[in-house]
Amino acid sequence: MFNPDDYRAALDAAHRRALDWLESVPDRPVRPAAGIDEQEAVFDLPLQDVSLPPEDVVTELAAKAEPGLMAMDSGRFFGWVIGGTLPAALGADWLVSAWDQNSGMRRATPSMAAIEAAAGRWLLELLGLPAGSDVGFTTGATMANFTGVLAGRHAVLAAAGWDVNERGLNGAPPVTVLAGAEVHASMLLAFRYAGLGVPYLVDADDQGRMRPDALEHALESVEGPVIVALQAGELHSGACDPFAELVPVAKARGAWVHVDGAFGLWAAASPRFAAMTAGLDGADSWATDAHKTLNVPYDCGLSIVRGSLVRNATRVTTSYLMHDVSGPADPFELVPEFSRRGRGVPVWAALRSLGRDGVVAMVDRLVDAAQELAARLREIPGVEVLNDVVFTQVCLSFGSDERTQEVTARLIEDGTVWMSGSRWMGRDVLRISVSNWSTDAADIAASVAAVRRAMG
Ligand SMILES: *Cc1c(COP(=O)(O)O)cnc(C)c1O
Repeated sequence: MFNPDDYRAALDAAHRRALDWLESVPDRPVRPAAGIDEQEAVFDLPLQDVSLPPEDVVTELAAKAEPGLMAMDSGRFFGWVIGGTLPAALGADWLVSAWDQNSGMRRATPSMAAIEAAAGRWLLELLGLPAGSDVGFTTGATMANFTGVLAGRHAVLAAAGWDVNERGLNGAPPVTVLAGAEVHASMLLAFRYAGLGVPYLVDADDQGRMRPDALEHALESVEGPVIVALQAGELHSGACDPFAELVPVAKARGAWVHVDGAFGLWAAASPRFAAMTAGLDGADSWATDAHKTLNVPYDCGLSIVRGSLVRNATRVTTSYLMHDVSGPADPFELVPEFSRRGRGVPVWAALRSLGRDGVVAMVDRLVDAAQELAARLREIPGVEVLNDVVFTQVCLSFGSDERTQEVTARLIEDGTVWMSGSRWMGRDVLRISVSNWSTDAADIAASVAAVRRAMG
């Protein structure tokens, strides 16, 4: 039975608990207080027979979950590549849940489609990508990479006289796929999901950028359809592939060029970093995340494909969808899923609240913070900064692999910050990704002090 009071009580409880959580973030240890074993025990309840009041369920959930939450919204969270949440984006995300719109069809949920279309146009403008490209809202860059590869697979096979939608991959001309030696694992998944196997890895330089001479060499011996995956934002160095050199080489060979720019694509939004992404707009498809650098809540990735080419791969027509085949694309035609939430709405709110200047300032601030951290850490004897800090990523070594592991473990335990242990160019490293809009000078000072403590 519909009872508005149930909603009010549940949402009031959620509102209170959400604010409690957000207000605790700046002062709590970044790492979770409880581990997975403890949290599994806490949630190891039998499914009870009776129903419970919604408000009580929300309150219980928040209380039980809280010890096992990581303060990923903290300005001192530098793990993996993970953004925080801008207030306007969070508010919009709550509305998306309350509205509960299945957001795939223009005529069924016009507001959602219109908002996402507007957000898509703003994104193309900000990132300097071709106007009129299709922008699809996915769960993340992994699915956006997959979408780009699907569009590319269709295009390169069509050019070879093969309709992959009709005939599948069985008996198709083999598609050669290439990626840089420092390719992100999610790009490998995208090729795997698309049935294209493991890419040939093209040599990269010491910052993980694909080498143009190596691409040229690799393409010399290749026949038939080709997809080349480039990268904006290498995970450890933040560097972008030299698109202005690579894209023409790939295009001359008739290749489809996809760019995984999960976080690095945002360099294109700032005039300060425009040189890094020169030539980016010559590619055919691009993947990025909104839940990283743009700081919208999880989950939201962006699939951007030139022209209307993605629709060749993802278009469906059925009698029951409210769907105008001759009109503009419905949102569900741009991504590999039918039903989904209005993921583009928090993107719209983030962009509306920041404005163009705000987006540029945010990207610049993230890089400034990364460079400031690198400069101050480099001054500490025993710390080595391994990469050229050109964007939001900083890679540290403390000497031997054992020493780096030991400092990493102590740093995590200390709780002031979270930075990720990783391996890069044959060495164990501690990686910092500055991706949270709220990281400020006090966070930087506290983080440097925490690294000093962890070094003993
Ligand atoms: C994070 C990341 C991905 C994967 O993105 P998800 O949003 O986690 O799916 C792909 N490529 C790069 C370079 C990334 O940093």
